[in-house]
Amino acid sequence: APAPPEPLSGRGLTVRYGEFTALDGVDVEVAPGRITAVVGPNGAGKSTLFHCLAGTVRRHSEMTGRVRFAGLDLTRLPAHARARLGVARTFQQLAVFPSLTVAENVAVGAEQGRVRDARSVDRALTLLGLDGPVRDRPAARLPTGTLRRVELGRALAGGPHVLLLDEPAAGLDTAEVAALARVLRALAAEGTALLIVEHDLDLVAHLADTVHVMRAGRVIASGPPDEVLSAAATTGGEP
Ligand code: ADP
Ligand code: MG
Repeated sequence: APAPPEPLSGRGLTVRYGEFTALDGVDVEVAPGRITAVVGPNGAGKSTLFHCLAGTVRRHSEMTGRVRFAGLDLTRLPAHARARLGVARTFQQLAVFPSLTVAENVAVGAEQGRVRDARSVDRALTLLGLDGPVRDRPAARLPTGTLRRVELGRALAGGPHVLLLDEPAAGLDTAEVAALARVLRALAAEGTALLIVEHDLDLVAHLADTVHVMRAGRVIASGPPDEVLSAAATTGGEP
């Protein structure tokens, strides 16, 4: 089904851990058919922003601001309720079930998503090249690159309108990163709204339509990658 023609939006997102402000009034839009990237040094607040959008902010933290999608205020909805509405995410720490097969893991993702049918599982497996013999192998002891595809397959099988990815290229080799980029572009071309938090600036430069550069809990620059990444590089090193 086509995604609703409206973005997932975060407004004034602020997260405090006690006295410490990890995220300081960030606005972001994750628009259908576009790839939005968030970059920045360790500790900049990228994962905290991701958690605000995904519904996984830690309980002991204090969050203010609003998250909206499809005419709904998602701010107080937990991650599983957002997934049902079509806002899915992958985990930086892989969360596959080792004793289940690749196909079973992906089917669990469909159960938790917006659409729940066998076709969406097959489609995700095919898109990710997991429709061969690996399909019926237990997830335990599969290489990282394959596990990352299983993790992405779990999110895709639910037919998400919005897909939130935290460091999807971590641990992948060059060929796997290129394959991932093709999959993400295909999803965007179908109208999925994608947000990626990513360390790999080459990947971001080739993939993103819009880049937000974060530092110390704030977005300090936003725009197309050719403008934003070169500006970040000339104004003092690591973006
Ligand atoms: P990034 O993903 O950009 O590396 P994070 O969003 O993980 O950054 O972290 C932003 C800041 O918030 C860091 O200084 C980090 O130490 C702090 N932080 C993150 N999670 C917690 C937490 N659960 N409790 C206290 N501080 C945290
Ligand atoms: Mg992080």
